[in-house]
Formats: sequence, C-alpha cells, structure tokens
Amino acid sequence: MREIILSNGKAVQVECLSCALTSGKIMPDGGVITETKYFHAHQDVAYPIKGLVILASKRHIKCFDELTEEEKIDYIYLLSKIRKAQREVLGIEYVYYFYNEDTTHHFHTWMVPRYDWMYDFGRSVESVRPVLLHARNNMNNEENMKEVMDAINVLTLALNKREAF
Ligand SMILES: [Zn+2]
Repeated sequence: MREIILSNGKAVQVECLSCALTSGKIMPDGGVITETKYFHAHQDVAYPIKGLVILASKRHIKCFDELTEEEKIDYIYLLSKIRKAQREVLGIEYVYYFYNEDTTHHFHTWMVPRYDWMYDFGRSVESVRPVLLHARNNMNNEENMKEVMDAINVLTLALNKREAF
C-alpha cells in the first residue's frame, strides 16, 4: 500500500494510484476529462500546465504489449481525439508524450503541451522533467490555476459533446 496525499490534504492508502483514479475511488481535481470502456483521462493539477492530460488504462497493466486488440484501437482513437481537442479549443500546436513502463502506478501516458517558456529547459526529452518540476514549484498561483481549471473545463466539454450524425 502507498500513502497518497490528496490536494485537500487528506491522506489515502491506495494499492495503485492509477487504479484508484480510473475506478473513481479518487476524483482528480477538475474531474474526469473523458473516459471510454478502457481508458480514463484527467489532469494532474499538481503540475499546473494548461491542457496537460494524463490518459490511463482502466486495467492494471504496465506494458504496451499487454494491451488487447480492442484496447489498442481505443487508445489510439482516444489519444488522437484528445490531441485534436487540445488543438481546437486550446490552440495547442505541439504536445510531448511521455510514458514509462516501470511506473509505480500503471499504464498512463502524459500528454504535455509545449509552450514557449519550456524551450529554456531544452528542446527534447531532457526538458520534460525540469518543465514539470518548474510548473509544480513555480506556477501554482491563483491566476495560472484558474487558467488550468478553465482549460480542463473546455476540454471536457469539447470531448463529451455528442457526435453529430
Ligand atoms: Zn493499477
């Protein structure tokens, strides 16, 4: 069991944070952005970057080759659907994708929008960790947090409106 401190300061014991989130045991700040039968998308506002999305599987698996055929199709469809919404409603031009199989949680992909300030930390994979830490340590202010929460709301709306037939 691991102890997770929620943003409200409450500590909860969970076996796997991704399981707790995707099953609804823990509700992420900003809520569920969208979900399918196999995947669940939310933002981790501990890293207050506007438009950042974490796409997690609902099954407790770690590796890409553990996905079933149906999950593979659902994954790429949902990933690109979220990407399209980031572009259309938030004007996000580029996204970095980060996914590590040796996670202490389970299968989840970080979709990290690329903003101009991030190039101060490098242009490629080496900049991902410093960018996330910078956001966590220096961007947790009221104004930015409001922008982050607004972005979650517009993404959620864009991704959950009914498809036109
Ligand atoms: Zn899990």
